[in-house]
Amino acid sequence: MAKEKKSALKEQKGVSQSEITNEKSIKNVKRKRKEKVDVKTLTSAILKKNITALSRAITLIESKNPNHSNTAKQIIKNCLPYANQSIRIGITGVPGVGKSTFIEAFGKHLTSIGKRVAVLAIDPTSSLTKGSILGDKTRMEDLVKDDNAFIRPSASGDSLGGVARKTRETIILCEAAGFNVILIETVGVGQSETTVHSMVDFFLLLKLSGAGDELQGIKRGIIEMADAIAINKADGDNIKKAKLAKVEFNRALHLYPLKPSTWQPKVTLCSALNNEGIDSIWNLVLKFVKLTTANGYFNKRRSEQNKFWLIQTIEEQLKSEFFNRPEIKKELVAKLNQIEANKTTPFEAANYLLDLNKFL
Ligand code: GDP
Repeated sequence: MAKEKKSALKEQKGVSQSEITNEKSIKNVKRKRKEKVDVKTLTSAILKKNITALSRAITLIESKNPNHSNTAKQIIKNCLPYANQSIRIGITGVPGVGKSTFIEAFGKHLTSIGKRVAVLAIDPTSSLTKGSILGDKTRMEDLVKDDNAFIRPSASGDSLGGVARKTRETIILCEAAGFNVILIETVGVGQSETTVHSMVDFFLLLKLSGAGDELQGIKRGIIEMADAIAINKADGDNIKKAKLAKVEFNRALHLYPLKPSTWQPKVTLCSALNNEGIDSIWNLVLKFVKLTTANGYFNKRRSEQNKFWLIQTIEEQLKSEFFNRPEIKKELVAKLNQIEANKTTPFEAANYLLDLNKFL
């Protein structure tokens, strides 16, 4: 209706239908041309290691504007052949364990030996609250200034699945921009460790000493995922306790069956604050990469992760398309009210909404 009205008005002003169509197609061509230029320039700037271009492209990935996502998709596609050449490391631990202090020390060590380091984060809190556990503080002050480091806070305002997809796409762009170590940080709460684990080669768990008590509070799943446990703050009066914790964790780790990588997870001590034990953690990563490259696990795991992400992306996309349809939004409210009033069952309501979706 609105379209008809608009063209009727233009007709009155003496503009013909064909002119309107022309006008539209010119606009389209201009828009397409602009997008093309953006994609091409941004991609080649990223490949030339231009950080501003990298940041801009990541902003496009994070944008909710469909035009931006389309441009981002094309950039990612163009960057894909140049990606994959990195070591991806997940780092987790409870708030206060020293993640940012550790990443700062670890990152500086890596850049000092000629690596280019990108630090990304998956913050499960940012989608739930306005603030975020990972993003609020002034973090990694030294690393931020390092030309060979790139730090990007977690995407926010999205579901964990959405944030995770964006982070995965960001990894591709960072790799294409020549970053050869990608650190992905998350807080040790909820589902986010599993998500990070599904996109990295090596998973590092940061812990505090506290020996026996520590072990009880730890989630079994996280220990199982860890390729190394670093007991941080092993300094000052803490050293003795930290050594005890190391023995405890080692004992605990030996209770688990051998991993498919055949890598035996290691426990190590470090003091991020004093820069101690940092280089030996990097040496562990290198040993892991050497072993798993030789036995084929490294590539096999990446390919399995890719397959997993294919399914995840489809699920995420379908879900978001479904829940964002105005008709579904409206009917969903009605069905939720009916459920509350015991007038329908969740299954009946779900079938109704899914059927409705088929006709939209
Ligand atoms: P995050 O919340 O896990 O990122 O932890 P932070 O890196 O912000 O560290 C929390 C607190 O622990 C800060 O006051 C740090 O200075 C301190 N901290 C971090 N690493 C060490 C360490 O190795 N030794 C000591 N003694 N304190 C540390």
